[in-house]
Amino acid sequence: MLPDDLREALRGVRTMGAITGAGVSAESGIQTYRGKGGLYDDPAEGDRTVDALSGPTLRRDPDRTWHVVAELARRSVAARPNPGHEALARIEDALPRFVLLTQNVDGLHRAAGSRNVIDIHGDVLDTRCMTCDATGRLTPAALRELDAAPACESCGGTLRPDAVLFGEMLPPAKVARMQAAFYDDPPDLVVIAGTTAVFPYIAEPVVWAAQNGRLTIEVNPEPTFVSEAVGWSLRGTAGGLLPEIADVLTS
Ligand SMILES: [Zn+2]
Repeated sequence: MLPDDLREALRGVRTMGAITGAGVSAESGIQTYRGKGGLYDDPAEGDRTVDALSGPTLRRDPDRTWHVVAELARRSVAARPNPGHEALARIEDALPRFVLLTQNVDGLHRAAGSRNVIDIHGDVLDTRCMTCDATGRLTPAALRELDAAPACESCGGTLRPDAVLFGEMLPPAKVARMQAAFYDDPPDLVVIAGTTAVFPYIAEPVVWAAQNGRLTIEVNPEPTFVSEAVGWSLRGTAGGLLPEIADVLTS
């Protein structure tokens, strides 16, 4: 249950920014990355997985990168949005301004109905040709067979996942959207959910909002890098707490 004074504060909210991470998708069965039991935490394979998902490996041995990406993509298409994803889509429908910044590459926010999504790390199903820059999306049929780097239908070049790999820069156009949405005029409410906020560009928007007198809420089972900075640090899951926040914002 949300505290009464938080429920009261939420009633004045007209605009909202949400920031999400792997914890939101964990409840859909998508393995987390950095947390305990996460993909990169695996003692046998974790470091190899990080290495496979790096920009230098992609350029040297794209088949190795795609071997891992294909498995992540298959898990994404098999997963379904959970109540945390659905709550954020419901809030977007009810408020005049809503923006969602996600680190997740599984496409589940869009699958749940979210529209104004900045997927800062890209989407594991999207592709970009390393030769001609053509963009595309993996079909379920192509995905079933996929184990090596696919070829571009336009030029025959090698496709890459249109996602940010380790050692690569964030896409400038998405950084600009994030800047406009969270810094130029911070939303009334910023909620950060399901992320340890280890990346500064994920932590800073909610810290900025708090410093500028906005209502800020963190939803996470464990304390994180932003727990001390936010107005409300709530211990729990996104699937449990985001629907409660949505109920107040949409009532
Ligand atoms: Zn091409």
